[in-house]
Amino acid sequence: MKTLRLSDDANGIKIAAEIIKSGGVVAIPTETVYGLAANAYDEKAVNKIFIAKGRPQDNPLIVHTCNLGMTREIVEDFSEDAEKLAQNFWPGPLTIILKRSEKIPSSVSAGLDTVAVRMPSNEVARKLIEVSGLPLAAPSANTSGSPSPTSADHVLKDLDGKIDAIIISDDCTVGVESTVVTLAVSPYRILRPGFVTFEEIAEILPETVVDKAVLQELKNDEKAASPGMKYKHYSPKAEVYLVEGEKEAFRDFVNQKENSVAICFEEDLDNLKIKAISYGGANDTKKQARTIFGVLRKVDEMGIKTVYVHAPKKEGIGLAVYNRLIRAAAFKVISL
Ligand code: AMP
Ligand code: MG
Repeated sequence: MKTLRLSDDANGIKIAAEIIKSGGVVAIPTETVYGLAANAYDEKAVNKIFIAKGRPQDNPLIVHTCNLGMTREIVEDFSEDAEKLAQNFWPGPLTIILKRSEKIPSSVSAGLDTVAVRMPSNEVARKLIEVSGLPLAAPSANTSGSPSPTSADHVLKDLDGKIDAIIISDDCTVGVESTVVTLAVSPYRILRPGFVTFEEIAEILPETVVDKAVLQELKNDEKAASPGMKYKHYSPKAEVYLVEGEKEAFRDFVNQKENSVAICFEEDLDNLKIKAISYGGANDTKKQARTIFGVLRKVDEMGIKTVYVHAPKKEGIGLAVYNRLIRAAAFKVISL
C-alpha cells in the first residue's frame, strides 16, 4: 500500500479524518510520541493497527478523546477521582484506566474489562479527533519492540507502506509515552511512569502507588497489571547496558570499552575516550525524555553493536526515562 503524506493544516486533517471514518489507519503527532490512530469503535480498523505494528494481540491500546463528553461514552463511570486528574492534567500526557463501556470493542482493551483513555494536548491530534467526531485508538506508531517514534521520519522508517497515511508535523515535545495510572484497582497504581510524575499524581490522589513492574523484571509466573510491561521494548538492535554510577566511575568504566558507544549526560562528554552521544544534562530530565528515543535510533543507524547508557535518576520525569531504558537494556543493569 502507498502511505499518503498529509500536511498538518486544516486540509490534511480533513483528509485524515475521512480516512479514519472509512476504517483506515493514520499516523498522527501527539505531544508524547507519534501515534497510529484508528476509529476506536471499529473493530476491523483497530485490528489494522495490531497488524501494521506487529503488536501482540494481548497488549491493549489507549483511546484518545477531545472532550469529557466523548470520554464518558467510552468508560462505564468517569469517577470523581478521574475528574480530579482530568482537571489537573488534561489535556496532556496522562492516561487513566477505568472500567470499559460496552461501546468500545473488547479487542481495543485486549479482552480486559477496563479501557485506557487520554486527552492529548497536541493541537493537530485534538483537531483530528474533533473533525472526525470519533475517539481514536492509538498506540505508538512504531514497529512493536523498537524505540518509540518522536518524529515523522521515525514513523516512516518503521511503517512506510504499511499504513494508509501519516500527518507530517513537528517533533514531539515530551518524547516519552504518557503516564498510565489505573483507577480500576485499590490502591490506585501507576503502571507506566511518564512526563506527569508520580509525585504530581500523589499530590492529587495520595493513595496512589507505583507498580513494581515499573523498575523490575516480572518473574515468569507473575501477571503484568499492564500487559505492555512484560515485553522487551524500546530496543535498538544494539546490545544495551544501563550503567548506574557517579560521573568518574562511569568515565573509568566506559573508557575501557573500546568498540562500544556511550549514551551519556552532557557533563560526561569531555571525559570520554570512546565515541559518546549525550541525551541531556544529568539534571535535565525533560531533555532526556525528549531525546532518548531518537538517540537509541541513531545508535542503530551508526551500526553500533554495544551501548552503555549512563542511567538517569529514578525520580520525577527521570523515572519515566529510567523505565524505558531498563527495558531497552532488557534489564541488564551494571551498578558501579
Ligand atoms: P502504547 O499505546 O504503545 O503507548 O502502549 C499502551 C500502554 O498502556 C501499554 O503498556 C498497555 O499495556 C497499557 N494499557 C492500555 N490499556 C490498558 C488497560 N486497560 N489495562 C492496563 N494497561 C493498559
Ligand atoms: Mg508503544
